Amino acid sequence: MDGLFCSICLEPWTNDGDHHISCLPCGHLFGMSCIKRWLRQRSNSGKCPQCNKKCMLKDVRKLFVSQIVSVDEESQKRIRSLEAKCDSLEKKVKIF
Ligand SMILES: [Zn+2]
Ligand SMILES: [Zn+2]
Repeated sequence: MDGLFCSICLEPWTNDGDHHISCLPCGHLFGMSCIKRWLRQRSNSGKCPQCNKKCMLKDVRKLFVSQIVSVDEESQKRIRSLEAKCDSLEKKVKIF
C-alpha cells in the first residue's frame, strides 16, 4: 500500500531503530537511516528523493506515531466492508 513504505529502500518504516519514520520539510516520509544516507551522499545539494525540494540533514525530523496510514475515501470504504466481512466470519466461526 502506498504511504507505508520508505520510497528509498521500499521497506516499511518502523517506530524504533535505524529505520525510524521521519519526514522532510516538504512533507515526504522516509526511513531515518535511508534519508540520512541519501543526504550525506549529497552533502551540499541535498534534496528530497521524491519532489526534489532542497533540504539538509538537519531538516530531517523524527516522527513519533503509532502508525501512519493514508488512504483515500474509496479505500476506506473497501476496508470497512472487509472489516464487516471479517466480523461476520468470526461470528460464524464462534457458532461452530
Ligand atoms: Zn528506507
Ligand atoms: Zn519531498
